[in-house]
Amino acid sequence: MSLVVVGSMAFDDIETPFGKSDKIVGGAATYIAWSASNFSHDIKQISVVGGDFPQTELDELHGRGVDLSGVQVKKDQKSFYWSGKYHMDMNTRDTLDTQLNVLADFNPVVPESYQDCEFLMLGNLVPAVQMSVIRQLKQRPRLIVMDTMNFWMQTALGDLEAVIGQVDVLLVNDSEARELSGQFSLVKAARTIMKMGPKYLIIKKGEHGALLFHEERVFFAPALPLEEVFDPTGAGDTFAGGFIGHIARTRDISYDNMKTAIIVGSAMASFTVEKFGTQRLREITKEDIDERIQEFVQLVNFDITLI
Ligand code: AMP
Repeated sequence: MSLVVVGSMAFDDIETPFGKSDKIVGGAATYIAWSASNFSHDIKQISVVGGDFPQTELDELHGRGVDLSGVQVKKDQKSFYWSGKYHMDMNTRDTLDTQLNVLADFNPVVPESYQDCEFLMLGNLVPAVQMSVIRQLKQRPRLIVMDTMNFWMQTALGDLEAVIGQVDVLLVNDSEARELSGQFSLVKAARTIMKMGPKYLIIKKGEHGALLFHEERVFFAPALPLEEVFDPTGAGDTFAGGFIGHIARTRDISYDNMKTAIIVGSAMASFTVEKFGTQRLREITKEDIDERIQEFVQLVNFDITLI
């Protein structure tokens, strides 16, 4: 039973107050696969790239056990391109350019070998493509998790709402939750969004951690206070990869296990921000990850006696 990951694979151009990346490999599904492959060894990727996408990048992911038979390579077209610039606080950014290129007319084809999908991670991508993948799966996965961003709220809201209506867990950041719900209070925003379909909602708050909502319950996972945040790009996708990777490894979709999964996601995201692009994700070992998860346990562990 596999974890199917859908999302962009891209070239990014990133500018932070500390430097410029120039054109590097990024994309939601790239980060998700690098992150989740630390936990699950049965990942099947669906995406599209142009002839300009480095074969070595695909080979490296393949080397980590990621099945790429659902990744289309359009030799005569250009890969999706995104560029963004971070503000001084490193928590907010402006998108400078989004060139859909191959994504503009992407028609995903779910290979027959992907039909054993137990967990579906819909990374950031055209909502109609996310929907097409859900429809092509003959049996509904046990858990469908979806990530999206403001770009799709502004360009494809109807399609986006239709996908949101089909998923179990939605991941958005705080400003996206506000934009989607029209509510400033995140508690009210969560209530409104959960009425749109998802039973669980995760609101990411960058360096201020993440909230998991379910029915009337809410759980908070902090972000690790880091000495240096170099480039936050991909933190949300890496978080998603850690979250779904942990769920796929344990095969437990309970609320309690989702609490652990958001700690794992937060730990993974804390690595990504330490260097440009996916660089840090390529370096870390299982020991690094275990150590970082322990740091999270220490961060929130306290005894209290009420008298
Ligand atoms: P994050 O920082 O987690 O929000 O994700 C950043 C990644 O999302 C970058 O690597 C981009 O290539 C990718 N990305 C940016 N805009 C879009 C979009 N509209 N659709 C799909 N992927 C995107």
